[in-house]
Amino acid sequence: MLEVAGVRVDPRHWIAGERVESGTSFANLSPIDGAPLGEVARGGASEVDAAVTAAQAAFGSWAALGPEGRAPILHRVADLVEARLEEFAQLETRDNGSLLRSHRRGVMPRVAMNIRFFADFAINDLKHPEFETRGHTNVVSWDPAGVAAIITPWNAPLMLATWRIGPALASGDTVVLKPPEWAPLTASLFADLTAEAGMPPGVFNVVQGIGAEAGAALAGHPGVARICFTGSVPTAKAVARAAAENLTPLSFELGGKSPTIVMDDADLGLAAEIAAEQYDNAGQVCLAGTRLLVHESVAVEFAERLAAKVEEIRQGDPRDEATDLGPQIHPVHLERIEGFVQRARSDGATVAFGGERVEPVAGGYYFAPTLILDAQPGSEILTQEVFGPVLTMQTFASEDEVIALANGTDYGLAATLVCGDRPRAERIASQLVAGTVWVNCFFVRDLRAPFGGSRKSGIGREGGTWSFDFYADVKNTCYSPNGWR
Ligand code: NAD
Repeated sequence: MLEVAGVRVDPRHWIAGERVESGTSFANLSPIDGAPLGEVARGGASEVDAAVTAAQAAFGSWAALGPEGRAPILHRVADLVEARLEEFAQLETRDNGSLLRSHRRGVMPRVAMNIRFFADFAINDLKHPEFETRGHTNVVSWDPAGVAAIITPWNAPLMLATWRIGPALASGDTVVLKPPEWAPLTASLFADLTAEAGMPPGVFNVVQGIGAEAGAALAGHPGVARICFTGSVPTAKAVARAAAENLTPLSFELGGKSPTIVMDDADLGLAAEIAAEQYDNAGQVCLAGTRLLVHESVAVEFAERLAAKVEEIRQGDPRDEATDLGPQIHPVHLERIEGFVQRARSDGATVAFGGERVEPVAGGYYFAPTLILDAQPGSEILTQEVFGPVLTMQTFASEDEVIALANGTDYGLAATLVCGDRPRAERIASQLVAGTVWVNCFFVRDLRAPFGGSRKSGIGREGGTWSFDFYADVKNTCYSPNGWR
């Protein structure tokens, strides 16, 4: 047992309702101060095989419960998350460095909601109207599909995991989760709660480990019916290759290089506020609108307002209520971010502010909020995801120009538009390549809405019915009008 932030958490796998050791382990560090948090079980092909086998064995009876039979168990899991919300918040903050106040007020309540929402949706909302074909009646149903493999990243580990676990379990699938090796702990605490809530052994399993080992084994396992992967584009390619061997259906939620567009009629106070929000979670947000595209007539005033907002950002220990910006996840990631900024500088870009490591907490992995100007068109800082507190700013003169700039990367996850006019907003939004567009707002999420990315930002959509379309086998049953004989 480990004790982290006052919370007892088991570092072993959770397979068939039991804790399972591995012969080997990996070290887990806290990004806040680099403190070692303990060794975590390092699973591989054999642990993955045991977990998939357990999930296959549990599938029939879990599926047979139906949405009404599964919902009370899922609601008990959500109740237990809420009852232990403070422990989850403390543990996740110590493990991944995101703000404690966000975990308490936003992220962990959303974890419970991820489970409740889909449990209820499967009962009340998963319906398609019957329709007739030459007098025959068509009835659409969503049947449980089998074992769902869920592979998740570290930037919001439990929230992103449960946003898939919720609909997968509500669909009647059983689950094998591979949490991120840079923030593995809350998945394990969550497993304890599934048992406490009365979930039968094998319905939910966790295999801890390194991506290229446990993750790869899970993606390539022939017993898996669905793969939901959230992470980076290069890893997605490896997962897709492994899935191709078994033709396993997959859902990908990947990276982004999203634009934040500021039109000449924008409320510049709002625009600066929204732009400063792109530094949240130390820039480690897939949806972050890190490319600021600003109309040339308002660029100077906007940049001044943004700089003033950034001055107000307090960087430090994410456990302090007053802190706005915490650490990056890992020294390797910090180095990656620094490399992006150094190369942008050597390519001739200007660093307006930030651009360097800071150390508000000794031993932690902190990078100052950064704004880059005058980057070369097509350069990597304008086209590749940094996943850190680094924004770029470019100016434009016309709507056509900004639409071309906004759509000018391989990604298409989200776009934010700050604009003073609805018809103009509709015209621009309709031309943006993005799974989500926010107009005069940012990060408003609704679990009923479709969520996902276009181009290399993902494959498929989740949320509401779209989640069930993925985790379930959608079936059409056609009844003859000729009665029963
Ligand atoms: P990553 O791709 O390195 O890892 C994600 C997960 O995949 C981890 O659990 C890792 O262990 C596992 N993995 C690594 N190699 C694997 C392999 N060969 N086979 C199977 N699994 C493997 O991503 P990351 O650094 O953890 O997360 C950051 C990325 O995630 C960013 O690109 C970010 O934009 C993206 N992200 C996307 C969304 C979204 O909803 N679109 C949400 C959050 C993060």
